[in-house]
Amino acid sequence: MTLTVLNPATEQPIAELEQAGIEELDEAVSRAEAAFPGWRAVSVADRARLLRRLAGLVEEHAEELARIESQNVGKPIAGARGEVAMVANVFHFYAGAVDKHHGETIPVDGGVDVTFREPLGICGLIVPWNFPLNIASWKLGPALACGNTVVLKPAELTPLSALRLAELALEAGIPEGVLNVVVGPGRVVGQRLVEHPDVAKIAFTGSTEVGAGVMRGAADTIKRVSLELGGKSANLVFADADLERAAAAAPYAVFDNAGQDCCARSRILVQRTVWDRFVGLLVDSTAGVRVGDPSDESTEMGPLISAQHRETVSSYVDGNVVYRGNTPEGPGFWFPCTLVEASNDDRVAREEVFGPVAALIPFEDEAEAIALANDTPYGLSGSIWTRDGARALRVARAVDTGVLSVNSNSSVRVATPFGGFKQSGFGRELGMHALEGYSEVKNLFLSTEA
Ligand code: NDP
Repeated sequence: MTLTVLNPATEQPIAELEQAGIEELDEAVSRAEAAFPGWRAVSVADRARLLRRLAGLVEEHAEELARIESQNVGKPIAGARGEVAMVANVFHFYAGAVDKHHGETIPVDGGVDVTFREPLGICGLIVPWNFPLNIASWKLGPALACGNTVVLKPAELTPLSALRLAELALEAGIPEGVLNVVVGPGRVVGQRLVEHPDVAKIAFTGSTEVGAGVMRGAADTIKRVSLELGGKSANLVFADADLERAAAAAPYAVFDNAGQDCCARSRILVQRTVWDRFVGLLVDSTAGVRVGDPSDESTEMGPLISAQHRETVSSYVDGNVVYRGNTPEGPGFWFPCTLVEASNDDRVAREEVFGPVAALIPFEDEAEAIALANDTPYGLSGSIWTRDGARALRVARAVDTGVLSVNSNSSVRVATPFGGFKQSGFGRELGMHALEGYSEVKNLFLSTEA
Protein backbone atom coordinates (compact mmCIF):
# COMPACT_ATOMS: atom_id res chain seq x y z
CA MET A 1 0.00 0.00 0.00
CA THR A 2 1.19 3.50 -0.80
CA LEU A 3 1.00 6.34 1.70
CA THR A 4 0.55 9.89 0.43
CA VAL A 5 2.03 12.49 2.79
CA LEU A 6 0.43 15.95 2.64
CA ASN A 7 1.50 19.48 3.49
CA PRO A 8 -1.36 20.66 5.75
CA ALA A 9 -0.83 24.30 4.74
CA THR A 10 -1.40 23.59 1.03
CA GLU A 11 -3.20 20.21 1.09
CA GLN A 12 -0.70 19.16 -1.63
CA PRO A 13 1.17 15.81 -1.57
CA ILE A 14 4.84 16.10 -0.62
CA ALA A 15 5.81 12.42 -0.63
CA GLU A 16 4.61 8.95 -1.60
CA LEU A 17 5.89 6.13 0.60
CA GLU A 18 5.52 2.39 0.80
CA GLN A 19 3.52 1.44 3.87
CA ALA A 20 4.84 -1.32 6.07
CA GLY A 21 2.70 -4.16 7.39
CA ILE A 22 3.22 -6.84 10.03
CA GLU A 23 5.90 -8.61 7.99
CA GLU A 24 8.04 -5.50 7.60
CA LEU A 25 7.61 -4.68 11.28
CA ASP A 26 8.76 -8.16 12.25
CA GLU A 27 11.78 -7.78 9.97
CA ALA A 28 12.68 -4.50 11.67
CA VAL A 29 12.44 -6.17 15.08
CA SER A 30 14.73 -8.96 13.80
CA ARG A 31 17.28 -6.37 12.60
CA ALA A 32 17.15 -4.65 16.00
CA GLU A 33 17.59 -8.00 17.72
CA ALA A 34 20.60 -8.89 15.59
CA ALA A 35 22.19 -5.50 16.24
CA PHE A 36 21.63 -5.54 20.01
CA PRO A 37 24.64 -7.58 21.23
CA GLY A 38 27.04 -5.48 19.15
CA TRP A 39 25.54 -2.13 20.19
CA ARG A 40 25.46 -3.08 23.85
CA ALA A 41 29.14 -4.03 23.62
CA VAL A 42 30.25 -0.74 22.01
CA SER A 43 32.61 0.92 24.47
CA VAL A 44 31.19 3.73 26.55
CA ALA A 45 33.45 6.34 24.95
CA ASP A 46 32.56 5.18 21.43
CA ARG A 47 28.81 5.13 22.10
CA ALA A 48 29.07 8.69 23.39
CA ARG A 49 31.17 9.67 20.35
CA LEU A 50 28.59 8.22 17.93
CA LEU A 51 25.73 10.07 19.62
CA ARG A 52 27.78 13.26 19.55
CA ARG A 53 28.38 12.74 15.82
CA LEU A 54 24.65 12.32 15.28
CA ALA A 55 24.07 15.59 17.18
CA GLY A 56 26.64 17.26 14.92
CA LEU A 57 24.96 15.94 11.77
CA VAL A 58 21.57 17.17 12.97
CA GLU A 59 23.17 20.61 13.40
CA GLU A 60 24.75 20.45 9.93
CA HIS A 61 21.40 19.48 8.40
CA ALA A 62 19.33 21.74 10.65
CA GLU A 63 17.80 23.84 7.88
CA GLU A 64 16.87 20.79 5.80
CA LEU A 65 15.27 19.05 8.81
CA ALA A 66 13.42 22.21 9.85
CA ARG A 67 11.98 22.57 6.33
CA ILE A 68 10.88 18.92 6.27
CA GLU A 69 9.16 19.36 9.64
CA SER A 70 7.60 22.70 8.68
CA GLN A 71 6.17 21.30 5.44
CA ASN A 72 4.96 18.02 6.88
CA VAL A 73 3.38 19.39 10.10
CA GLY A 74 2.50 22.90 8.92
CA LYS A 75 4.74 24.40 11.61
CA PRO A 76 6.08 27.93 11.26
CA ILE A 77 9.66 27.65 10.04
CA ALA A 78 11.06 29.70 12.94
CA GLY A 79 9.54 27.28 15.46
CA ALA A 80 10.70 24.25 13.44
CA ARG A 81 14.29 25.57 13.57
CA GLY A 82 14.04 25.82 17.35
CA GLU A 83 12.78 22.24 17.54
CA VAL A 84 15.62 20.89 15.42
CA ALA A 85 18.12 22.77 17.61
CA MET A 86 16.60 20.98 20.57
CA VAL A 87 16.95 17.60 18.83
CA ALA A 88 20.70 18.21 18.43
CA ASN A 89 20.94 19.26 22.07
CA VAL A 90 19.12 16.12 23.17
CA PHE A 91 21.74 13.94 21.43
CA HIS A 92 24.55 16.08 22.87
CA PHE A 93 23.05 15.66 26.34
CA TYR A 94 22.71 11.87 26.10
CA ALA A 95 26.18 11.56 24.57
CA GLY A 96 27.38 13.20 27.79
CA ALA A 97 25.12 10.99 29.91
CA VAL A 98 26.41 7.61 28.68
CA ASP A 99 29.19 7.43 31.30
CA LYS A 100 27.26 9.19 34.07
CA HIS A 101 24.45 6.69 34.40
CA HIS A 102 26.24 4.44 36.81
CA GLY A 103 25.45 2.01 39.59
CA GLU A 104 26.08 2.15 43.33
CA THR A 105 28.00 0.28 45.98
CA ILE A 106 25.76 -0.57 48.93
CA PRO A 107 27.09 -1.39 52.41
CA VAL A 108 26.27 -5.03 53.28
CA ASP A 109 27.74 -7.68 55.56
CA GLY A 110 30.08 -10.37 54.27
CA GLY A 111 31.02 -8.82 50.97
CA VAL A 112 30.47 -6.06 48.49
CA ASP A 113 27.18 -5.19 46.84
CA VAL A 114 27.15 -3.30 43.56
CA THR A 115 24.47 -2.35 41.07
CA PHE A 116 24.70 -2.13 37.28
CA ARG A 117 22.42 -0.45 34.74
CA GLU A 118 21.72 -2.93 31.99
CA PRO A 119 19.99 -2.12 28.69
CA LEU A 120 16.50 -3.54 28.19
CA GLY A 121 17.01 -4.90 24.66
CA ILE A 122 14.73 -3.78 21.83
CA CYS A 123 12.67 -0.68 22.52
CA GLY A 124 9.58 0.14 20.44
CA LEU A 125 9.13 3.91 20.15
CA ILE A 126 5.70 5.10 18.98
CA VAL A 127 5.49 8.84 18.35
CA PRO A 128 2.79 11.31 17.28
CA TRP A 129 2.51 13.94 14.56
CA ASN A 130 2.63 17.15 16.61
CA PHE A 131 6.40 17.26 17.34
CA PRO A 132 7.59 14.30 15.26
CA LEU A 133 11.36 14.72 15.44
CA ASN A 134 11.53 16.26 18.90
CA ILE A 135 9.51 13.54 20.58
CA ALA A 136 11.40 10.83 18.66
CA SER A 137 14.72 12.29 19.92
CA TRP A 138 13.49 12.37 23.55
CA LYS A 139 13.09 8.60 23.32
CA LEU A 140 16.02 7.79 21.02
CA GLY A 141 18.61 9.71 23.05
CA PRO A 142 18.24 7.78 26.32
CA ALA A 143 17.37 4.47 24.60
CA LEU A 144 20.57 4.48 22.53
CA ALA A 145 22.70 5.90 25.36
CA CYS A 146 21.70 2.95 27.56
CA GLY A 147 22.72 0.45 24.86
CA ASN A 148 19.28 -0.52 23.52
CA THR A 149 18.38 -0.94 19.87
CA VAL A 150 15.12 0.56 18.66
CA VAL A 151 12.21 0.30 16.26
CA LEU A 152 10.72 3.76 15.78
CA LYS A 153 7.17 4.12 14.45
CA PRO A 154 6.38 7.70 13.44
CA ALA A 155 2.78 8.82 12.88
CA GLU A 156 1.59 8.09 9.35
CA LEU A 157 0.79 11.76 8.84
CA THR A 158 4.38 12.86 9.60
CA PRO A 159 7.00 10.19 8.84
CA LEU A 160 9.49 12.25 6.83
CA SER A 161 11.81 13.68 9.50
CA ALA A 162 12.22 10.29 11.23
CA LEU A 163 13.25 8.67 7.94
CA ARG A 164 15.86 11.39 7.37
CA LEU A 165 17.14 11.08 10.93
CA ALA A 166 17.68 7.34 10.43
CA GLU A 167 19.86 8.12 7.40
CA LEU A 168 21.87 10.61 9.45
CA ALA A 169 22.33 8.01 12.20
CA LEU A 170 23.94 5.65 9.68
CA GLU A 171 26.10 8.48 8.38
CA ALA A 172 27.18 9.17 11.97
CA GLY A 173 28.45 5.58 12.17
CA ILE A 174 25.67 4.13 14.34
CA PRO A 175 25.59 0.52 13.08
CA GLU A 176 22.87 -0.86 10.78
CA GLY A 177 19.96 -2.29 12.73
CA VAL A 178 20.39 -0.08 15.81
CA LEU A 179 17.82 2.52 14.71
CA ASN A 180 15.02 1.13 12.53
CA VAL A 181 12.12 3.23 11.28
CA VAL A 182 8.86 1.56 10.21
CA VAL A 183 6.19 3.65 8.48
CA GLY A 184 2.76 2.10 8.72
CA PRO A 185 -0.62 2.38 10.39
CA GLY A 186 -0.63 2.47 14.18
CA ARG A 187 -3.46 0.00 14.53
CA VAL A 188 -1.44 -2.53 12.48
CA VAL A 189 2.32 -2.06 12.90
CA GLY A 190 2.03 -0.04 16.15
CA GLN A 191 -0.10 -2.74 17.70
CA ARG A 192 2.24 -5.51 16.50
CA LEU A 193 5.20 -3.64 18.03
CA VAL A 194 3.30 -3.45 21.33
CA GLU A 195 2.49 -7.16 21.27
CA HIS A 196 5.76 -8.45 19.78
CA PRO A 197 7.29 -11.00 22.16
CA ASP A 198 10.89 -9.88 21.44
CA VAL A 199 10.31 -6.19 22.22
CA ALA A 200 11.22 -5.29 25.79
CA LYS A 201 9.70 -1.85 26.12
CA ILE A 202 7.23 0.51 24.49
CA ALA A 203 7.69 4.25 24.85
CA PHE A 204 4.52 5.88 23.58
CA THR A 205 3.39 9.47 23.07
CA GLY A 206 -0.13 10.11 21.83
CA SER A 207 -3.73 10.03 22.94
CA THR A 208 -4.83 8.68 26.30
CA GLU A 209 -7.21 6.29 24.54
CA VAL A 210 -4.48 4.63 22.43
CA GLY A 211 -2.13 4.77 25.44
CA ALA A 212 -4.59 2.66 27.44
CA GLY A 213 -4.60 0.13 24.59
CA VAL A 214 -0.78 0.11 24.61
CA MET A 215 -0.82 -0.80 28.31
CA ARG A 216 -3.33 -3.58 27.69
CA GLY A 217 -1.38 -4.92 24.70
CA ALA A 218 1.91 -4.84 26.61
CA ALA A 219 0.51 -6.79 29.55
CA ASP A 220 0.79 -10.27 28.03
CA THR A 221 4.54 -9.99 27.62
CA ILE A 222 5.10 -7.85 30.76
CA LYS A 223 6.71 -5.16 28.63
CA ARG A 224 8.03 -2.03 30.22
CA VAL A 225 5.82 0.87 29.20
CA SER A 226 6.18 4.62 29.44
CA LEU A 227 3.32 6.85 28.36
CA GLU A 228 3.20 10.55 27.55
CA LEU A 229 -0.48 11.22 26.92
CA GLY A 230 -2.92 14.07 26.74
CA GLY A 231 -3.24 17.16 28.89
CA LYS A 232 -5.72 19.85 29.87
CA SER A 233 -3.37 22.13 31.72
CA ALA A 234 -4.32 25.20 33.71
CA ASN A 235 -2.76 28.63 33.41
CA LEU A 236 -3.56 30.18 36.82
CA VAL A 237 -3.59 33.96 36.82
CA PHE A 238 -3.86 35.52 40.29
CA ALA A 239 -4.94 39.12 40.83
CA ASP A 240 -1.48 40.06 42.15
CA ALA A 241 0.30 38.87 38.99
CA ASP A 242 1.98 41.07 36.41
CA LEU A 243 -1.18 40.93 34.28
CA GLU A 244 0.39 42.53 31.20
CA ARG A 245 3.14 39.91 31.15
CA ALA A 246 0.77 37.03 31.85
CA ALA A 247 -1.64 38.17 29.11
CA ALA A 248 1.15 38.72 26.59
CA ALA A 249 2.46 35.19 27.17
CA ALA A 250 -0.83 33.26 27.47
CA PRO A 251 -1.72 33.02 23.74
CA TYR A 252 1.60 31.35 22.94
CA ALA A 253 0.96 28.78 25.68
CA VAL A 254 -2.19 27.62 23.86
CA PHE A 255 -1.82 28.59 20.22
CA ASP A 256 1.80 27.54 19.71
CA ASN A 257 1.88 24.60 17.24
CA ALA A 258 -1.78 25.55 16.53
CA GLY A 259 -2.71 24.21 19.97
CA GLN A 260 -1.56 20.71 19.02
CA ASP A 261 0.57 20.42 22.12
CA CYS A 262 0.03 18.11 25.08
CA CYS A 263 1.40 20.90 27.34
CA ALA A 264 -1.05 23.52 26.00
CA ARG A 265 -2.36 25.66 28.86
CA SER A 266 -5.83 25.42 27.34
CA ARG A 267 -7.69 26.33 30.53
CA ILE A 268 -6.92 29.91 31.49
CA LEU A 269 -8.11 30.37 35.09
CA VAL A 270 -8.40 34.03 36.09
CA GLN A 271 -9.13 35.52 39.52
CA ARG A 272 -12.53 37.17 39.30
CA THR A 273 -11.40 40.56 40.67
CA VAL A 274 -9.16 41.08 37.60
CA TRP A 275 -11.30 39.18 35.08
CA ASP A 276 -12.38 42.14 32.90
CA ARG A 277 -8.94 43.68 32.79
CA PHE A 278 -7.13 40.40 32.07
CA VAL A 279 -9.59 39.25 29.40
CA GLY A 280 -9.24 42.63 27.65
CA LEU A 281 -5.44 42.29 27.64
CA LEU A 282 -5.67 38.67 26.48
CA VAL A 283 -7.94 39.51 23.54
CA ASP A 284 -5.45 42.19 22.45
CA SER A 285 -2.46 39.87 22.67
CA THR A 286 -4.32 37.02 20.91
CA ALA A 287 -5.18 39.38 18.07
CA GLY A 288 -1.42 39.88 17.66
CA VAL A 289 -0.69 36.19 16.90
CA ARG A 290 0.50 36.05 13.29
CA VAL A 291 -1.32 33.20 11.51
CA GLY A 292 -0.30 32.25 7.98
CA ASP A 293 2.14 30.60 5.60
CA PRO A 294 4.48 28.43 7.70
CA SER A 295 7.41 29.18 5.39
CA ASP A 296 7.13 32.91 6.18
CA GLU A 297 9.78 33.87 8.74
CA SER A 298 7.35 35.98 10.75
CA THR A 299 4.52 33.43 11.02
CA GLU A 300 3.67 32.31 14.56
CA MET A 301 0.84 29.85 13.91
CA GLY A 302 0.17 27.50 11.00
CA PRO A 303 -2.74 25.20 10.14
CA LEU A 304 -4.01 22.09 11.90
CA ILE A 305 -2.63 18.71 10.85
CA SER A 306 -5.60 17.41 8.83
CA ALA A 307 -9.14 18.06 7.64
CA GLN A 308 -10.45 15.41 10.01
CA HIS A 309 -8.69 17.00 12.96
CA ARG A 310 -10.12 20.42 12.03
CA GLU A 311 -13.60 18.94 12.23
CA THR A 312 -12.87 17.55 15.69
CA VAL A 313 -11.49 20.89 16.90
CA SER A 314 -14.45 22.87 15.57
CA SER A 315 -16.87 20.59 17.46
CA TYR A 316 -15.60 22.17 20.70
CA VAL A 317 -16.57 25.73 19.83
CA ASP A 318 -20.24 26.02 20.67
CA GLY A 319 -20.23 28.19 23.77
CA ASN A 320 -19.64 31.81 24.59
CA VAL A 321 -16.95 32.92 22.13
CA VAL A 322 -15.05 35.93 23.48
CA TYR A 323 -12.68 36.22 20.53
CA ARG A 324 -12.16 34.52 17.17
CA GLY A 325 -9.14 35.41 15.02
CA ASN A 326 -8.58 35.30 11.27
CA THR A 327 -7.11 32.66 8.99
CA PRO A 328 -5.74 32.76 5.45
CA GLU A 329 -8.08 32.19 2.49
CA GLY A 330 -7.66 29.17 0.23
CA PRO A 331 -6.34 25.68 0.85
CA GLY A 332 -4.94 24.52 4.19
CA PHE A 333 -6.47 23.10 7.34
CA TRP A 334 -6.74 26.49 9.06
CA PHE A 335 -8.46 27.19 12.33
CA PRO A 336 -8.53 30.60 14.04
CA CYS A 337 -7.25 31.43 17.53
CA THR A 338 -10.38 31.16 19.65
CA LEU A 339 -11.12 32.26 23.24
CA VAL A 340 -14.25 30.82 24.86
CA GLU A 341 -15.73 31.73 28.26
CA ALA A 342 -16.55 28.44 29.96
CA SER A 343 -17.20 26.61 33.19
CA ASN A 344 -14.87 23.80 34.20
CA ASP A 345 -17.70 21.33 33.53
CA ASP A 346 -18.02 22.25 29.85
CA ARG A 347 -16.68 19.81 27.27
CA VAL A 348 -14.19 22.42 26.01
CA ALA A 349 -12.70 22.57 29.52
CA ARG A 350 -12.69 18.82 30.16
CA GLU A 351 -11.37 17.27 26.96
CA GLU A 352 -8.10 17.82 25.15
CA VAL A 353 -9.11 19.94 22.14
CA PHE A 354 -5.63 19.84 20.58
CA GLY A 355 -6.36 22.97 18.59
CA PRO A 356 -6.14 26.77 19.06
CA VAL A 357 -9.08 27.00 21.47
CA ALA A 358 -8.68 28.30 25.04
CA ALA A 359 -11.33 28.02 27.76
CA LEU A 360 -11.42 31.09 30.09
CA ILE A 361 -12.68 30.24 33.56
CA PRO A 362 -13.02 32.57 36.58
CA PHE A 363 -12.07 31.65 40.17
CA GLU A 364 -12.62 33.40 43.51
CA ASP A 365 -9.62 32.50 45.66
CA GLU A 366 -6.55 30.30 45.97
CA ALA A 367 -8.50 27.28 47.21
CA GLU A 368 -10.88 27.39 44.26
CA ALA A 369 -8.01 27.92 41.83
CA ILE A 370 -6.32 24.73 43.06
CA ALA A 371 -9.58 22.77 43.05
CA LEU A 372 -10.35 23.79 39.46
CA ALA A 373 -6.80 23.13 38.27
CA ASN A 374 -7.02 19.61 39.72
CA ASP A 375 -10.57 18.93 38.53
CA THR A 376 -9.44 17.07 35.39
CA PRO A 377 -8.39 13.52 34.62
CA TYR A 378 -5.12 14.89 33.23
CA GLY A 379 -1.99 16.18 34.99
CA LEU A 380 0.75 17.16 32.57
CA SER A 381 1.77 20.80 32.89
CA GLY A 382 0.57 24.22 34.00
CA SER A 383 1.53 27.73 35.01
CA ILE A 384 1.09 29.96 38.03
CA TRP A 385 1.22 33.73 37.64
CA THR A 386 1.60 35.65 40.93
CA ARG A 387 4.03 38.07 42.59
CA ASP A 388 3.63 36.27 45.93
CA GLY A 389 6.48 33.74 46.17
CA ALA A 390 4.94 31.81 49.05
CA ARG A 391 1.67 31.44 47.14
CA ALA A 392 3.55 30.28 44.04
CA LEU A 393 5.15 27.47 46.06
CA ARG A 394 1.93 26.56 47.92
CA VAL A 395 -0.04 26.30 44.69
CA ALA A 396 2.75 24.49 42.84
CA ARG A 397 2.87 21.80 45.53
CA ALA A 398 -0.92 21.44 45.52
CA VAL A 399 -1.45 21.13 41.76
CA ASP A 400 -1.27 17.51 40.58
CA THR A 401 0.81 17.81 37.43
CA GLY A 402 4.27 16.66 36.40
CA VAL A 403 5.65 19.92 35.01
CA LEU A 404 4.87 23.44 36.25
CA SER A 405 6.21 26.92 35.76
CA VAL A 406 5.89 30.12 37.77
CA ASN A 407 5.57 33.41 35.89
CA SER A 408 6.43 31.54 32.70
CA ASN A 409 4.73 29.04 30.39
CA SER A 410 7.70 26.93 29.45
CA SER A 411 7.83 23.30 30.53
CA VAL A 412 10.27 21.45 28.33
CA ARG A 413 14.03 21.54 28.74
CA VAL A 414 16.67 19.03 27.65
CA ALA A 415 18.12 18.58 31.15
CA THR A 416 14.90 18.46 33.20
CA PRO A 417 12.33 15.68 33.65
CA PHE A 418 9.14 15.82 31.61
CA GLY A 419 6.02 13.70 32.11
CA GLY A 420 2.60 13.49 33.62
CA PHE A 421 0.51 12.62 36.65
CA LYS A 422 -2.87 10.88 36.46
CA GLN A 423 -4.15 10.08 32.94
CA SER A 424 -1.38 12.14 31.34
CA GLY A 425 0.76 9.03 31.67
CA PHE A 426 3.79 7.86 33.60
CA GLY A 427 7.53 7.65 33.23
CA ARG A 428 9.75 10.66 32.61
CA GLU A 429 11.45 11.85 29.46
CA LEU A 430 14.47 14.13 29.13
CA GLY A 431 17.19 14.81 31.67
CA MET A 432 18.91 12.03 33.58
CA HIS A 433 15.48 10.76 34.71
CA ALA A 434 14.75 9.35 31.24
CA LEU A 435 17.61 6.86 31.54
CA GLU A 436 15.68 5.02 34.26
CA GLY A 437 13.04 4.11 31.68
CA TYR A 438 15.52 2.46 29.31
CA SER A 439 17.57 0.34 31.71
CA GLU A 440 17.16 -2.33 34.38
CA VAL A 441 18.96 -2.24 37.71
CA LYS A 442 21.01 -5.38 38.30
CA ASN A 443 22.15 -6.10 41.83
CA LEU A 444 25.32 -8.14 42.38
CA PHE A 445 26.71 -9.43 45.67
CA LEU A 446 30.36 -10.52 45.83
CA SER A 447 31.36 -12.46 48.91
CA THR A 448 34.61 -11.39 50.55
CA GLU A 449 34.62 -14.23 53.05
CA ALA A 450 37.85 -16.18 53.19
P1 NDP B 1 -2.91 8.56 18.42
O1 NDP B 1 -2.76 8.30 19.86
O2 NDP B 1 -3.87 7.74 17.62
O3 NDP B 1 -1.49 8.43 17.65
C1 NDP B 1 -0.23 8.48 18.28
C2 NDP B 1 0.67 7.38 17.69
O4 NDP B 1 0.14 6.10 18.03
C3 NDP B 1 0.76 7.40 16.17
O5 NDP B 1 2.06 7.00 15.77
C4 NDP B 1 -0.25 6.34 15.78
O6 NDP B 1 -0.02 5.78 14.51
C5 NDP B 1 -0.03 5.32 16.86
N1 NDP B 1 -1.15 4.39 17.06
C6 NDP B 1 -2.45 4.55 16.72
N2 NDP B 1 -3.16 3.46 17.07
C7 NDP B 1 -2.30 2.59 17.64
C8 NDP B 1 -2.42 1.28 18.19
N3 NDP B 1 -3.60 0.67 18.24
N4 NDP B 1 -1.32 0.69 18.69
C9 NDP B 1 -0.13 1.30 18.66
N5 NDP B 1 0.06 2.54 18.14
C10 NDP B 1 -1.01 3.18 17.63
O7 NDP B 1 -3.25 10.07 18.27
P2 NDP B 1 -4.05 10.79 17.05
O8 NDP B 1 -3.05 11.02 16.03
O9 NDP B 1 -5.24 10.02 16.63
O10 NDP B 1 -4.59 12.10 17.77
C11 NDP B 1 -5.82 12.04 18.49
C12 NDP B 1 -5.75 12.88 19.74
O11 NDP B 1 -4.73 12.38 20.59
C13 NDP B 1 -5.36 14.33 19.50
O12 NDP B 1 -6.45 15.09 19.11
C14 NDP B 1 -4.83 14.68 20.87
O13 NDP B 1 -5.89 14.98 21.73
C15 NDP B 1 -4.13 13.41 21.33
N6 NDP B 1 -2.69 13.45 21.05
C16 NDP B 1 -1.84 13.73 22.06
C17 NDP B 1 -0.49 13.83 21.80
C18 NDP B 1 0.49 14.15 22.87
O14 NDP B 1 1.50 14.78 22.58
N7 NDP B 1 0.26 13.73 24.09
C19 NDP B 1 0.07 13.66 20.46
C20 NDP B 1 -0.92 13.30 19.47
C21 NDP B 1 -2.22 13.21 19.78
P3 NDP B 1 -0.69 6.38 13.15
O15 NDP B 1 -0.94 7.80 13.37
O16 NDP B 1 0.35 6.13 12.14
O17 NDP B 1 -1.89 5.58 12.93
